[in-house]
Amino acid sequence: MIAELLDQIKDPEIPVLTIAELGILRGFDVVGSAVTVTITPTYSGCPAMDAIKADITSVLEDHGFTAIVKTTYSPPWTTDMITLEGRAKLGRIGIAPPGPRSAVRCPRCFSGSPRTVSEFGSTACKALMVCSKCGEPFDLFKELR
Ligand SMILES: [Zn+2]
Repeated sequence: MIAELLDQIKDPEIPVLTIAELGILRGFDVVGSAVTVTITPTYSGCPAMDAIKADITSVLEDHGFTAIVKTTYSPPWTTDMITLEGRAKLGRIGIAPPGPRSAVRCPRCFSGSPRTVSEFGSTACKALMVCSKCGEPFDLFKELR
């Protein structure tokens, strides 16, 4: 029940992905009608986290629960926590499948030599990259560093 409710919550910046698929939903505990949900931000100071917390609270409260949302940075989020389904969805919307930056490939031509254009892409949580072969601009998830 709780898992299904939390599964409705999407990342506000990448609305095709649920917070579970993105790997930021760490878990939850239910005691009576109180639900404690633990999440890990993808990037410190990521502004989307406030929206995610608000979504978790409103979904649970709409179903009669009291929500407590906790944030943990330990262990830190990495792109390894994105589920396989999440990775497939990211590829379909043209966001580079996550991995070490040295192994980043252009989502269009798969060339492996992108340049970082800006540490801030479409959102503060992503860097803007451009492919040095075909010129395709694309977003890359940042990790906590
Ligand atoms: Zn390319």
